Amino acid sequence: MPKTSLKHLDPRQPLVVDTTKLPRQPGATRALKRVVPAPKDLGLELISVPTGSDLELDLSMTSVSEGVYVSGTVRGSLQGECGRCLDEISQSFAVTIGELYAYADSTTEETTDEDEVGRMQGDLLDLEPALRDAVVLTLPTNPVCRPDCPGLCPECGVHLDDLPADHSHEDVDPRWAALRNLSNTEE
Ligand SMILES: [Zn+2]
Ligand SMILES: [Zn+2]
Repeated sequence: MPKTSLKHLDPRQPLVVDTTKLPRQPGATRALKRVVPAPKDLGLELISVPTGSDLELDLSMTSVSEGVYVSGTVRGSLQGECGRCLDEISQSFAVTIGELYAYADSTTEETTDEDEVGRMQGDLLDLEPALRDAVVLTLPTNPVCRPDCPGLCPECGVHLDDLPADHSHEDVDPRWAALRNLSNTEE
């Protein structure tokens, strides 16, 4: 049985990090600050990070005995649709990442599943799975444009913000009532 099902990493991918310059001595650390384009489908159906928009990585890599530990913050922008009023949502986000990437043939690599602990491929590691998990966890499944968005009138579909507080469809205007009666008689 093959030991690993990992896809081969391409160092030209924006979220693949080359750790060649990080000394393998435990405790050695290096900053990892860069701005990369967001990958496709980063997020949920109703709210996500626009493909190609800036992702600002503010991370640090630390050598540990079993691999490389990557931690820090990733910032970017989100776009979506309010689940109540359908208005566009445009906001920023920041997520924290803390992920261990185990060296090939380390005890950690041999005793853990690749879903729990990341894997080094030579000097390369892939930030994308950890970033996806972090971003998806932070996103609301029912995004709203603001916490108290009142939504739309279920009768006429107009934003309740744009309607008077006493807006109602209970009392039908007599002129509309007349029209309604008219159409009834036509049937
Ligand atoms: Zn809204
Ligand atoms: Zn209405």
